Amino acid sequence: MRFVADYTRPLGNLADRAGLRGRALADLVRLGIRVPPGFVVSDVVCRRFLETGDIPSDAWEEIEAALVTVSHAFASMGVTRPQLFAVRSSPGVAMPGVLNSALYLGATTGVLSMLATAQGPGFAATVRLGFLETLGLMRGLSPARYPSLLADVAGPEAEAALTTAQLDALAAAYRDLIVEESQRSIPDDVPGQLREAIESVFASWDRIEARRHRRRHGIADEDGMAVVIHPMIFGELPGDSGAGTVFSRDPVEGTPNVSGIYAPGESRPRVAIDDPRLSELSATGPGASLVEVVRRLEIEWGELVRLDYVREGGEVWVIDGRVAERSTQAAVRVAVEFVDEGLHSIEDALLSIDPERLGGILHPRFVTPPYAPPMARGLASSPGVAAGPVVLTAADAIDSADAGLPAILVLREVLPRDLDGVARAAGLVTGHGGGTSHAAVAARAAGTPSVTGVGEPTADPATVRIGDRVIGAGEWITIDGATGAVYQGKLPVAQPVAAGYLERLLEWADQVRSLGVWANADTALSAAAAKAAGADGIGLARTEYMFQGERLDVVRRILLSDSARDRADALVELENLQIGDFEGLLGVMDGTPVVVRLLDPPVHEFLPSRVDIELEMARRRLAGESVADLVSLEAAVEQWSEVNPMLGLRGVRLAVVIPEIYRVQVLAALEAVRRRLDAGGDPQLQLMIPLVGSIEELLLVRDMIEEEVHSAGRLLEIAIGTMIELPRAALTAGELALASDFFSFGTNDLTQTTMGLSRDDAEEAFLLAYIEQGLMAVNPFQQIDPVGVGALMREAITAGRAANPGLEIGVCGEHGGDPVSIEYFHQWGVDYVSCSPPRLPIARLAAAQAALSDPQRSEGKAPPAEPGGPTQLR
Ligand code: PEP
Ligand code: MG
Repeated sequence: MRFVADYTRPLGNLADRAGLRGRALADLVRLGIRVPPGFVVSDVVCRRFLETGDIPSDAWEEIEAALVTVSHAFASMGVTRPQLFAVRSSPGVAMPGVLNSALYLGATTGVLSMLATAQGPGFAATVRLGFLETLGLMRGLSPARYPSLLADVAGPEAEAALTTAQLDALAAAYRDLIVEESQRSIPDDVPGQLREAIESVFASWDRIEARRHRRRHGIADEDGMAVVIHPMIFGELPGDSGAGTVFSRDPVEGTPNVSGIYAPGESRPRVAIDDPRLSELSATGPGASLVEVVRRLEIEWGELVRLDYVREGGEVWVIDGRVAERSTQAAVRVAVEFVDEGLHSIEDALLSIDPERLGGILHPRFVTPPYAPPMARGLASSPGVAAGPVVLTAADAIDSADAGLPAILVLREVLPRDLDGVARAAGLVTGHGGGTSHAAVAARAAGTPSVTGVGEPTADPATVRIGDRVIGAGEWITIDGATGAVYQGKLPVAQPVAAGYLERLLEWADQVRSLGVWANADTALSAAAAKAAGADGIGLARTEYMFQGERLDVVRRILLSDSARDRADALVELENLQIGDFEGLLGVMDGTPVVVRLLDPPVHEFLPSRVDIELEMARRRLAGESVADLVSLEAAVEQWSEVNPMLGLRGVRLAVVIPEIYRVQVLAALEAVRRRLDAGGDPQLQLMIPLVGSIEELLLVRDMIEEEVHSAGRLLEIAIGTMIELPRAALTAGELALASDFFSFGTNDLTQTTMGLSRDDAEEAFLLAYIEQGLMAVNPFQQIDPVGVGALMREAITAGRAANPGLEIGVCGEHGGDPVSIEYFHQWGVDYVSCSPPRLPIARLAAAQAALSDPQRSEGKAPPAEPGGPTQLR
């Protein structure tokens, strides 16, 4: 046979074409476990069907012949009752929940009347309804129609209470509806029903949910799937019948005990209970209980195993065996314990977990998955689940936190003045901004769960709009920052569990990886969290986050004051404040590098908005108060405002227009180093200059830093580096490297400027449409574009290292925490990635996986270039 294989015998050359379920059933038979006889139809038939809309005639002949063989085999196992068949999907890679299966096939008039005689009319009516439900789904009828028919027939009574007559009436109504809606009669022969079922299961490969799933998991659209066909076992029969599932270990917590659930056959609707008789049930004849079988399979497959079984008249038949889905907690625990038990190597354990799953493990999570659908969905921008009443200002979020209460802060966008509130809020929802917008970056830096692009204040100061709903301040909502879902009300949230197994897994990862994993952290507090989560250093301290809250006034005096004296005082004040900030960071990270980035954002971000000024003016005029100061403030705001600030006065350009700010930052940093040295510490300060586009800009700042170090009159070792965030910087990297001790790729801006996509707007405005329509495979702000942005990076790395072999190279954009991007960075010879603290576990595991899949590894990879010693300034 070319297209069909009997899975009760070795699959031979169809083994690769039989899909996961087909291969698993063949394996169960090989191990002597009792499964119904059956066969696999190869994925080649599916591909032909998807191309032509038809099952090829030679394949169909093989299917009909196999059906006869299987019926005989089943009968010869002592089954004398009429047979019905199941068609189940068998893709090559698990695609849970997105492909169809079809049951009760062969429910012809003749078979149903035989069933009525043999098993009773009630059972025949149940089977008939089961077949029609399958058929309705196959023909695309909305499942929602069924309950309304049920209500017509049974009135308010529960389904469990239906009489045989009512079941028959329900089936008749359902049959008429299916024929009317699909404009097709219902075949009354076994091959006819089977053919429609196989075609419908094949066609489900092209359903939108299946296509989305494949895109998310990198499964090729062309693969197609096999199907498995076998006679059904009737768990619905009265007596000792039912259906159950058994796991080789607990799939939620990962504890090493066999567990299972079981639904007795007569209960309608089915209610699963813990199976009290697991260890008594035999799946192979005397002696081999389901517990023993599932344990044996776990050893055979080296996986947490799930078996589905049906019990008919006391006899147990296993109908499916597969690798069990599991919670992240369970996945980590099982991976570690498999190593302890000698089932897996450490490499297997490291490769067995999708790093992205670790994103949620250190965060609060739902106690049980939410039952109700979310009221809105935005962009998942900082993981974790949070519930709390809505507050509309950062000040209210801080007040709540001071009172020990949670609050979800809803803002249009996050401005520097809101950062304290973001850090103290239980969760953040914003109306504006994508996954790399400053709102998202701020939330991740603070570890605050956040959803962006979905909610904002309305004209009424006491309400916000979230999706389509208007929610009052004080009303509870629950957000899931890992999925972007916003739920109404207060859902139960569990705090993260102790992470002993995770620590062991990540320690193994650290031994394997060659890529450094640093963190983006701006305060001593978040640096301490990053260090505890395994950061090798701080790769980006965004100093603008130190200019928030009360310090905004100091910054505004520097920018706006007419009095030279007042500006000078404000500059000194800022310097003193920053000394403490830097000292704190260097103290926490003593002995490891700390990259302090000089100020980056556009100046107007530190000023009040014109709308706020005008509102205040209106208020004062009504109160008869003077507005003179506001008039000059408005003029200043006007002076600094820009049409396109992302490409405006920011980054190193600030050093050209307002040189005093960089100078006080440098003075503060040097003083902090000096104090740490005096205290016997080992400060490893690196100063980084953002948004550099030319060697002239870099030298301007570098010279200023060197001048300040010289005038300090003491040997200080400070590395000076540049961010590569503009195509021009990447293209002139050879030149920039001559004046740099290190490069750090700001891949958020580099993506924005290379692709001409606004990082604040594009995700919300059109990127998702691009992805939906297949114009882009993934969001380039999440996963590095290896072709365009990657080409610039590779060129810059090569040219930079050629000019300065000691150049240390990092990545500090959000891509530094993305597993796929991390694999590219490893290949391209980057020395370290730096990511937000919540992504550190992901990055550590992804870096280990990148090292394990590096083809050079087994041949003894050349050690990465020695990072250059810092510039010695005297
Ligand atoms: C970047 O652009 O990638 C970067 C790290 O800087 P920021 O996100 O602060 O602009
Ligand atoms: Mg940047």
